[in-house]
Amino acid sequence: MEVGEYARTVMHATIRHKMTYVNSFRAFWGYREGGVREYEKWMTEALAEAKLAPATGDVPVAALLFDEAGERIGTGHNQRELAADPTAHAEIVAIREAANRVGSWHLENTTLVITLEPCTMCAGAILQARIPRVVFGAWDEKAGAAGSVLDVLRDRRLPHKVEVIAGVKEAECAELLTEFFNAKR
Ligand SMILES: [Zn+2]
Repeated sequence: MEVGEYARTVMHATIRHKMTYVNSFRAFWGYREGGVREYEKWMTEALAEAKLAPATGDVPVAALLFDEAGERIGTGHNQRELAADPTAHAEIVAIREAANRVGSWHLENTTLVITLEPCTMCAGAILQARIPRVVFGAWDEKAGAAGSVLDVLRDRRLPHKVEVIAGVKEAECAELLTEFFNAKR
């Protein structure tokens, strides 16, 4: 990420949500230590997964869960249409896979990387799984629950708070969705 691009990301984030700005600032220092580069690498993997969406008409969204060693322990695609399941969002699929693998509902010290801002249901699941960090790409202006419409992940009234790093590879993540919806029209 170039400095100019980073500045635009921070500016953009500031407009969206002041907490996002704080987190982006934190991410900047992380960047100096390779943090943001790691997030970008993970988002590239998530984008590749999202592009593998089956021809079921499912919106191409992917979620990956990484443990503290950086190992991928959960992979999810949105499969609401495929499974005829309203809860089969990418995040839920990835969280279930990781919980099964780890043998615990408690997914501490993990990072969830999603191509799209989570909805209220997924934000709720993230809190329930005690996931401490969420990295997402595109904003969901209509249903996002991490700063767009609601901010469930950072609601002061709730006991568990999540660090949110928003807008990682935002343009590519948004483009994938735009292409999908344009093709559907
Ligand atoms: Zn969701």
